[in-house]
Amino acid sequence: MYWKEKEEIILEDELKSIQLERLKKTVLTANKSVYYKSFFKKHKLDAHIVELEDIRKYPFTFKDDLRESYPSGMLATSLDNVVRMHASSGTTGKSTLIFHTKKDVDNWADLVARGLYSAGVRKTDIFQNMMSYGLFTGGLGLHYGAEKIGAMVIPIGTGNTDRQISFLKDLKTTVAHITPSYLLHLGHALEEKGLSPAKSFDLKIAIMGAESYSEATRKKLEKIFNIKVHNCYGLSEMNGPGVAFECEHQDGMHLWEDNYLAEIIDPITGEVLPDGEEGELVLTTLKREGMPIIRYRTKDITKFLNGRCKCGRVCRRIARIKGRSDDMFIVKGVNIFPSQIETVLMETPGVDKNYMIILDRKEGLDILLIQIEIQKTYFKGELRQLKNLQETLRENLRRVVLVTPVIELVEPGTLPTSTGKAKRVLDKRRL
Ligand code: ADP
Ligand code: ZN
Repeated sequence: MYWKEKEEIILEDELKSIQLERLKKTVLTANKSVYYKSFFKKHKLDAHIVELEDIRKYPFTFKDDLRESYPSGMLATSLDNVVRMHASSGTTGKSTLIFHTKKDVDNWADLVARGLYSAGVRKTDIFQNMMSYGLFTGGLGLHYGAEKIGAMVIPIGTGNTDRQISFLKDLKTTVAHITPSYLLHLGHALEEKGLSPAKSFDLKIAIMGAESYSEATRKKLEKIFNIKVHNCYGLSEMNGPGVAFECEHQDGMHLWEDNYLAEIIDPITGEVLPDGEEGELVLTTLKREGMPIIRYRTKDITKFLNGRCKCGRVCRRIARIKGRSDDMFIVKGVNIFPSQIETVLMETPGVDKNYMIILDRKEGLDILLIQIEIQKTYFKGELRQLKNLQETLRENLRRVVLVTPVIELVEPGTLPTSTGKAKRVLDKRRL
């Protein structure tokens, strides 16, 4: 049931005391870095922690702080002790560098193994890692965790869909690690070849993360491929994937609180919110020695779920990430998250697998244009059917996002696809 039962099944009080002991050490270690030393001095802070709540006396660390301390201002040890470096994928600007000691990479692999095991991955599995290797943490991060479990890892990386399909078939892959956009694309590619995604393979589990996706997308993919999809969350500043993981019950992601101290804050005021309220996730590393980070603003919007998970693990669960606070866009004064649109699309029968959101402005008025791939049969049938679907989508979307969108229906395979992180919003108002 558990990767390391002694660490996962403990009392809440035990967890709290582990957190406290690790937090004390983290702050002391951070104080050895050029960045935090001057940060503490500037804010007249010491590195002394008595209780967990003391974390709140420290100001937040932002991505810009990492950029400004480029390349190694936050490194808290000598470069001699560093065995690996990663960088964020740079979705939102210049990349930031993260350095790991031997203990750090080993501990990260152990956390990933914990998550994978909780999702049902075992020694007997064939693990096709369809995430990019290299500076991006998705490939190597899961690679070492799966190896630790003893699964056979295929380090294929992203892209080359034909080869992915051959390996899935010939090596009888049972677990895939993949982004939602690539799995949707793979489904499309298989159908184009006349293969049934549900019947052609031995695939049982997909570990899916790196970008947000809705519950409706998960359900759709589970059905198309006849598999279980487990959500996996992480960010390079906090190692990478494996910060939070969905266990066998698929009901929210266990955030590994013995390794990360989590707070949920109001992204505008910075105020810490009561348990269960939705806000921005703020994380402090608790076990990292090479480059500890204090109160990192992830920009990711989520909340803690109430109650204990049926699996019995002590670490609390966070809800699916709603999006990044900077993903949100405003149309005609209304705040919209792409995930709200995605949910409606994936729940509407007839919609295929891909879509694109385009924001524009004409004569001073905002326009929300949504291009949607729909199933081929609609283009072969009567025009009325197409019109009806267009109307249904417009109405369902208007009800959820409160703005009437312009709907453009296109054939499957028309819109740009991605093997890594998808870019599904194009804001022409900013061009
Ligand atoms: P970048 O910030 O440059 O994209 P990363 O590659 O470290 O750098 O990506 C981390 C981000 O990816 C997270 O902050 C989050 O926004 C997104 N992400 C990762 N996993 C998930 C997931 N399971 N669900 C939603 N978003 C995710
Ligand atoms: Zn659980």
